[in-house]
Amino acid sequence: MADNTFMVEIVTPEQILLKDEIQFLVVPELNGELGVLKNHAPMIAALDIGVLRYTDPEGKVKKIALSGGFMEVIYNEVRVLAETAEQGSEIDILRAKAAKERAEKRLQLQDENINSGRAEMAMRRAMARLKAADALVND
Ligand code: ATP
Repeated sequence: MADNTFMVEIVTPEQILLKDEIQFLVVPELNGELGVLKNHAPMIAALDIGVLRYTDPEGKVKKIALSGGFMEVIYNEVRVLAETAEQGSEIDILRAKAAKERAEKRLQLQDENINSGRAEMAMRRAMARLKAADALVND
């Protein structure tokens, strides 16, 4: 059987979240989603807050919430350096919902003492976590 896999490593300042041979990766690039297959040309990309998807060696699709960073692709080795990253299955959904509500309230207040850019970022991180955890349905 042809080997369609390549190595991916997802690293944060806290941990190596993933180091595995995978078949397919989609990352939230600043200009939209970017897919990576084996033998992708070497590149460096800036990543946005969002959801990274990949197929594990058994072909199962997994999701990871990312809060921005960089991806480097060199000779079938992909390295993602992220500010924060969590596997969808490990996300604390209540915490993400609380963060989303807090950010929404801050944005609604339109108070000049509130840093709306910061609230917007917190909101996007919370949304990405809820998406990665498949928990946005009843929101
Ligand atoms: P909160 O207000 O809930 O802390 P935040 O977006 O400000 O959310 P970050 O600063 O992005 O949190 O992350 C701080 C740490 O907490 C990181 O290690 C991140 O992986 C982890 N983290 C944040 N939210 C969650 C969550 N809902 N489930 C699991 N881990 C989380």
